[in-house]
Amino acid sequence: MSKPIKRRDFMRAGAVAGMTLASAKSAISQFPNLLVQSAIKPVVVSSANGNRFRHGGDMTVVQKAFTMMVQGADVLDALVAGVNIVELDPLDDSVGYGGLPNADGVVQLDASCMHGPKKRAGAVASLEGVRTPSLVAKSVLETTDHHLLVGKGAQMFARNMGFKIEDDLNTEHSRRLWLEWKRRTDPSHYLDPKTRAEVWHREGLKMVAEGLVDREHYYGTINCNGINAKGEICGVTTTSGLAWKIPGRVGDSPILGAGLYVDGAVGAAGSTGRGEANLYNLCSFLIVEEMRRGKHPKDAGLEALRRIKANTVEKRLLNSKGNPSFGVNFYIINAKGEFAGVSMYQGPSYAMCSDAGPQTLPCEGLLQGKPND
Ligand code: ASP
Repeated sequence: MSKPIKRRDFMRAGAVAGMTLASAKSAISQFPNLLVQSAIKPVVVSSANGNRFRHGGDMTVVQKAFTMMVQGADVLDALVAGVNIVELDPLDDSVGYGGLPNADGVVQLDASCMHGPKKRAGAVASLEGVRTPSLVAKSVLETTDHHLLVGKGAQMFARNMGFKIEDDLNTEHSRRLWLEWKRRTDPSHYLDPKTRAEVWHREGLKMVAEGLVDREHYYGTINCNGINAKGEICGVTTTSGLAWKIPGRVGDSPILGAGLYVDGAVGAAGSTGRGEANLYNLCSFLIVEEMRRGKHPKDAGLEALRRIKANTVEKRLLNSKGNPSFGVNFYIINAKGEFAGVSMYQGPSYAMCSDAGPQTLPCEGLLQGKPND
């Protein structure tokens, strides 16, 4: 199926036509988006938690986002409506309402979103009291000159925009787990300067090993990216961040270029997993830049994982094989509608929805084995 060439695309095509064959080829390989796009198959990709049915819901995140998108909703509106399902789910302790709280027992939320065609971005970090941080991030994008609001200021902004501010976003479940963690740890929630081992992190991982906390929810986030038939690309990432974090700790999710990056002409990438590893390497930006140079989403994602691996040198972050002792995943779409999910280790999956319906697919792993080998 061909689609009418837009003026912008026509001009790009014309620019290519005016070149010699050799120079056109070289321009195309340098700037793959010079090519006139044929009809794009709309698709939504997300972290694996985007394809689970939720408390009382009849659609998964990717289904909801995809359905709204193909019915003509703005791509970002559709993606945010999708992730709202997880944010509002009281039984999900990794995102939004009921997310595992910080070391003081307070739920602090991070979120970001980017709109490819509008070239706008918005994010909030350490936001307390609002169940749907992704909607506040979208308000930052739509109504301010800024890209990132944090803490009290973000909450004040949300209040002024009409969001309901609640005293406490804990559920009985998240509070019970926090109390259990508190019971196990001493109050020194900082790295021992000699060993650089974190007491609270060790205890948290023990709770994962004992099955009290879902491994995916110790860290735990949803990233969701979509492209519609017009080639419009957007993305959103929302999280309660690392369980039992030092109050004020901000992960990768609300940081443009780390937890999310969208370039409307190239593609989108977003992440879940150990935010610090991603923050250090700004992988979503890196992935989009690799795609700009022509890499397929899968290869661009694996390149970012290799960068993380190369920059992970502290012993406390390495397993007995000398590989990273943590997981990190990326969910990627390019402007042609090609997509991929990649992970540091083979094992995690990701969600996608196309006109064939929602699916959960295995991520392409960089390494065999497990983080805790
Ligand atoms: N990346 C998030 C963070 O570090 C957590 C996660 O994705 O699990 O805050």
